[in-house]
Amino acid sequence: MAHQIKNAAVIGSGVMGSGIAAHLANIGIPVLLLDIVPELSAEEKAKGMDASDRKVRNRLAEGALKGLLKQKPAPLASKDNLALITPGNLEDDLEKLKDVDWIIEVIVENLDIKKALYEKIDGVRGEHAIVSSNTSGISIEAMAEGRSEGFRKHFLGTHFFNPPRYLKLLEVIPTEDTSEEVLDFMVKFGEDRLGKGVVVAKDTPNFIGNRIGTYGLLVTLKEMMERGYSVGEVDSVTGTLIGRPKSATFRTLDVVGLDTFVHVARNVFDKTEGDEKDMFRTPDFLLKMVENGWLGAKAKQGFYLKE
Ligand code: NAD
Repeated sequence: MAHQIKNAAVIGSGVMGSGIAAHLANIGIPVLLLDIVPELSAEEKAKGMDASDRKVRNRLAEGALKGLLKQKPAPLASKDNLALITPGNLEDDLEKLKDVDWIIEVIVENLDIKKALYEKIDGVRGEHAIVSSNTSGISIEAMAEGRSEGFRKHFLGTHFFNPPRYLKLLEVIPTEDTSEEVLDFMVKFGEDRLGKGVVVAKDTPNFIGNRIGTYGLLVTLKEMMERGYSVGEVDSVTGTLIGRPKSATFRTLDVVGLDTFVHVARNVFDKTEGDEKDMFRTPDFLLKMVENGWLGAKAKQGFYLKE
């Protein structure tokens, strides 16, 4: 059948999910933006806040919408586009996915957590719904393992780059089971409607962009430590002074999220052997920063402090 995307659902309302939802809203596509139900803190419980209140249950996606109005550069082409994004949570709104043409998974970079979500989606998706993952580099085939034939035919990777409204690249990654029709449709949709430059990539660890990008970043970190460069020096040389916009090495890491970068580096580290493995080892100080909760811009503290 000829595919069409009249509406979409984005699952995961973090850095990338909220940005992808905004990009879809900018081109007039209504989006359901779902996240998990957050736990109430002891303080909130003591204040008598009600865990069954929908506002509490939708808090993560609601918070993401507020964030879209504050971010720079602006993810929304117009503030009015926010009306096209409906926030919700997976527990209460799972059934709504049955009427959605394109379901995009944008949750934490962890195979088991992603697989558990796909099992739920497989149980509710409409027969023709396309399902895709924004993973930075986990195997698309591994995520589809155990899913129904219908799901597997309609499943592929659609890897946006950060920030989704501004970076033109979209990697599209099929598995052997993705139907040719779905792949062709997604490539055309990516180019014509999403305004992206689409590259079809093989299902190898971290695909193309992040395989090269992660390697480059890790080499830069290693050189910095061995030769005693400062964060500011590296950012000047890899950013403004070489003619690139502000987001150089460490500013980029802050925007990406240090926790996400660690997961992404691990995608390749876990799948390589010998000398090559060492090239993808994450330095201890970066792991320590993540342990401390210095996750980058989203935590207001990474290599830089954010107001
Ligand atoms: P993030 O940490 O900012 O957000 C993840 C969101 O997923 C959170 O809001 C979290 O509550 C939610 N979540 C976690 N488990 C969930 C579940 N079981 N069900 C529903 N929601 C759940 O992460 P991010 O940076 O937006 O990354 C999301 C995905 O996009 C990852 O696969 C990542 O590798 C990929 N990606 C990230 C970037 C980047 O620059 N950050 C770029 C391209 C791709």
